[in-house]
Amino acid sequence: MVAGDQTEEKRPAPLGAVIDAVDRLIPPALRHDREEKMRARVLVASSIGIGLLVTVSQTIRAFTLPITATFFSGVAVIIFFYALPWFQWVTRSSRLAGGVLSLALVLALPAIHYQVHHFPAPVLVFFPAVPVVATFFVGIRLGLVAVLALAGAVVGLVRALPWGLSPEYADYTPTLAASAAVCTAICYLLAVVYERNHRRNEADLKRINQELAAARARAEEADRRKTEFLRHMSHELRTPLNAIVGYSELLTEELEEGDPEPRADAEKIGAASRHLLGLINDLLDISKIEAGAIALHFEEFAPTELFTDLEGTLAPLASGNGNRLTLDVDAALGVIRSDRQRLHQILLNLAGNACKFTRDGAITVRCRRDGDAQVTFEVADTGVGIDPARQSEIFEPFVQVDASVERRRQGTGLGLAITRKLVEHLGGTISVRSALGQGSTFTFALPRAGPSTG
Ligand code: ADP
Repeated sequence: MVAGDQTEEKRPAPLGAVIDAVDRLIPPALRHDREEKMRARVLVASSIGIGLLVTVSQTIRAFTLPITATFFSGVAVIIFFYALPWFQWVTRSSRLAGGVLSLALVLALPAIHYQVHHFPAPVLVFFPAVPVVATFFVGIRLGLVAVLALAGAVVGLVRALPWGLSPEYADYTPTLAASAAVCTAICYLLAVVYERNHRRNEADLKRINQELAAARARAEEADRRKTEFLRHMSHELRTPLNAIVGYSELLTEELEEGDPEPRADAEKIGAASRHLLGLINDLLDISKIEAGAIALHFEEFAPTELFTDLEGTLAPLASGNGNRLTLDVDAALGVIRSDRQRLHQILLNLAGNACKFTRDGAITVRCRRDGDAQVTFEVADTGVGIDPARQSEIFEPFVQVDASVERRRQGTGLGLAITRKLVEHLGGTISVRSALGQGSTFTFALPRAGPSTG
């Protein structure tokens, strides 16, 4: 829905007073949307305008000519036009009231012809008004129907009754009739062009409004996540730092007192420092990637070698939670060209998560040739799985599906965001398949010869 325009254009005082008077005759429900309001205004102004015109002419007629049936039909026309704004007020629909106006015009022109057996010349000017009024109020299709109905009625009448204009213009009948017909066609075409453009603009505006709203929602969500992340982060940084400070003070005291077992405290300091280092590394990585300042080093290497390195790092992580680790690399794969260190980091992130979120299960890291040009990597686990509704979010920075304190302690919510960006830098895309309680499989394919430049 296009937003209503509350700001009124600046206009000279007498015109402003007339428009204000017209606006008072528009139902409040039609005043919010600019388009509706404009249609409703046109309806009120044209109905009252025509009503006044006919009132003046009928008054003059009443004093100059005998009162006949024609006079009373004129009075009916006056009542009709004055009633239209009221009809619009009651139905709260400018389209409905405009439809009635269009129908009245379509019926009135042949009726006048029928009544006087020719078209009074001034009435011709109303022909071009029909397509414009009908298209403006009820749209292109019904506008065309109105034009065809009018043309059909005129042709029918011409066959049944004498054809001609007011006697004084009889000589010009063909010229004036052709002008009215051509003018009607031109007016219809113009009305169609206007209506089409108008609809296209409305559609564009609606789309832009939707895009803006979506972008705003995304920005707000990103902002909310960043704020939440900073809050968590300051807590996460403070906890290991406090531990390091506390245990190093304790260690100093113990050493001063000649305590023989300072080892446990030193291990705690080591663990807290490593955790801190992990957090800071993740933060540096994500900020480097987001700033586009990441340096990649492409080289040729065999994935088998990479998997041997990986096994050394992953084995203790996997066994820590009682998991069985399988590394399965296609021996016939040969060499690929990529950034070995970053690929190691990607697989370690994915397999590290698999170890973290799986207990007494199986973790499998696979590498397969995928056609001539690609190589596919897969990290699968049989762990807790990820809620399908959240799967699209997990690659966003700072998202943790279960933001419980326990989970937060184990990570930063940055791992998958870093992983996705790195995979993209290496020329691939990453996806996940997962079901709650059944495990997750992360898959990505990389070009064997490195990302194409250009
Ligand atoms: P974190 O450092 O918190 O693990 P990640 O970006 O690596 O952050 O992961 C984001 C979230 O995705 C995790 O908090 C977890 O909820 C979910 N997740 C990632 N990998 C897995 C997995 N293998 N099994 C279940 N959940 C996972």
